Amino acid sequence: MTQYIFVTGGVVSGIGKGISAASVGRLLKDNGFSVFMQKFDPYLNVDPGTMSPYQHGEVFVTRDGGETDLDLGHYERFIDEELTKNSSVTSGRIYSNVIRKERAGDFEGKTVQVIPHVTNEIKAKVYSVAEESQADFIITEIGGTVGDIESQPFIEAIRQIHSENPEHVLFMHTVLIPTIPGTDELKTKPAQHSFKELMSFGIKPDVFILRAAEPITEEVFSKISLFCDLPREAIIESKNVDLIYEVPLVFKAQGLDQYILRHFNMTSRADKTGEWAKMCQRFRESKQKLSIALVGKYTALNDSYLSVLEAIRDAGFNLDTLAEVTYIDSETIAAENAQEVLSGFDGVVIPGAFGSRGTEGMIETVRYVREHKVPYLGICMGMQIACIETARNVLGLADASSLELKPDAKHLIITYLDGQSADMDLGGTLRLGNNDCALKPGSLAHQLYGQENIVERHRHRYEFNNKYKEQFEREGGVVFSGVQLAKNLMEIVERPDHPYFIACQFHPEFKSRPNRPHPLFTGLIEAGLKRRGEHKKGKKKED
Ligand code: GLN
Repeated sequence: MTQYIFVTGGVVSGIGKGISAASVGRLLKDNGFSVFMQKFDPYLNVDPGTMSPYQHGEVFVTRDGGETDLDLGHYERFIDEELTKNSSVTSGRIYSNVIRKERAGDFEGKTVQVIPHVTNEIKAKVYSVAEESQADFIITEIGGTVGDIESQPFIEAIRQIHSENPEHVLFMHTVLIPTIPGTDELKTKPAQHSFKELMSFGIKPDVFILRAAEPITEEVFSKISLFCDLPREAIIESKNVDLIYEVPLVFKAQGLDQYILRHFNMTSRADKTGEWAKMCQRFRESKQKLSIALVGKYTALNDSYLSVLEAIRDAGFNLDTLAEVTYIDSETIAAENAQEVLSGFDGVVIPGAFGSRGTEGMIETVRYVREHKVPYLGICMGMQIACIETARNVLGLADASSLELKPDAKHLIITYLDGQSADMDLGGTLRLGNNDCALKPGSLAHQLYGQENIVERHRHRYEFNNKYKEQFEREGGVVFSGVQLAKNLMEIVERPDHPYFIACQFHPEFKSRPNRPHPLFTGLIEAGLKRRGEHKKGKKKED
C-alpha cells in the first residue's frame, strides 16, 4: 500500500520547503523504502519551460523531457531517483487537461467545476505516480503558501486523498518563525495562523517544520505544541546549515524519520543514513580551494544555474576541494578586458542560454580560455559558442554565427536540422530529455565516462551544422567525440591540443549527484587542480 506525504508551506514562501521534502525522501530511502517525489505549482503556465530563469530559477529537465521546477533537481540529487513529467504539475497543466476533456465531451454534458473536475484531475496525478512508480512513499510538495487563491484546489484535492486513504496520509507543514527586528524574540503567531488556515480547509498537519534565523527555544516548541495540537516530537527545527545535504541529518537527529514511520504503523527496514553522514563529513572537510567562473547571461539570480552550481561544487567536494563559483555576466566581457576578468580562475563554465544577448562576451570568453589553456566546460549554448569561436578565430570564417543569434550570417555553424520549421511555437518544440550518444574510442570524453555509450538529457532547439564538420576536424583542431547516431547529431566537441576543453550539446548537470558527480564536472575540477599545481610550481621557480 502506498503512503502519501504532502508538504505544504505557511507564512512566507522560499523557506526551503523543497529541501525539507527532499530530506524526508532521503531519510525514508535510508530506512530501506522506495520513494518517488512530485511537485505541484499553482501558477498558470502549462510548464516552466517558457519562463525566464529570472522568474522561476532554472528549468530542470527530466529524463522523459519534462521541463520542470528547479525543486525537482533537489529531489533527484537527494533521493537519487530519476523523476518524470508527472513529477511536476502546474495549475496551467491541470486546467488545460480539464478544458481539453470538456471540449472532447468527456464530461457528458455536466457543468464543469473546480470541485470535482479540477480536484479529480489533481488527484489523478497523485494516484498515477503511485501506480507508475510502485514506490512505498509518494512525497508531494504543494508550491506557494497555504491561503493563496491559486493553490486552493490543490489543498482541497489532498484533503480528499486523505479522506479516501485515512491511514495512509501524512501532512507536513513548513513555516517561518520570524523574529522582531532588532531583537532575538521568536514569534509563533504567524505559524498559529497558518495552522488555522490549514484547519479551515479540513487539513490537520501531522508534522510541523520550523525555520528561523535564531535557534528555536523550548518555549516556542511548547507554544506550537499547545496551539497547534501536536505532540512535541512532531515539531522539528530546520536549523540553518552550511551544506544543504546536512538537512536530512538535522531531521534525523530529532527523530523525524522514526516519527513518520510510527505514524504509518511501519518500522524501519534498514539504517543507511551513515553513508550520507559520512559524505557530508567529507564535504565539510574539503581542504583545497579552486575558483571557477560561470559566465552566463542570467547571473543576477543565483538559482538560474542551480544544477550547474551544485554539479561543480559536488565534483569539487568529491576531490577534497571547495570549488568557489563566481557568476560573471557575459555582457560585461569583451576582447579588451577578457584577460583582466578571467585570468584569476582555474576553470570556466559557459552554461545553457537562449537568445543573443551576451553571446559576444561568451565568444570572447571561449577565445581567452582556448588561447590561455584554461580548463573549459561548455554546456549546450556553451558548446554552440565554442563552435562559433573556432569558426571565426581558428578557421577565419569571420561572419560565422548561429541561426538563433544572427539568422543572416554567412556561415551558420549552428542551425535547424533539415525538416525543422522556423516558425514553431516557443513552447514544447525543443529536443528534450534523454538521447543516446556514442563516444569516440580514445577521446577525452571516452576516458572521462569510462564507457562508449552514454545517455544524457537535452533542452535546445539548434544543432551543429554538419556541413562544417570535416573542415572543423581537419583545420579547426577539434574532435567531435560524441555523436547521436540515429540522426548524426554532434553532441560533444573537444580540443586535443588543450589540457581540458570539452563542450556538450546536452546538460550533464541534470545527472550529477552529490555522491556520484558527473564525469565532465569531475574532469573540470581535476584539470583546474592540475593547472593550479603547475602555477604554484612555476611561481616557486620564479622566486
Ligand atoms: N538556445 C540554444 C538552442 O536552443 C541553446 C539552448 C541551451 O543552451 N539550453 O539550441
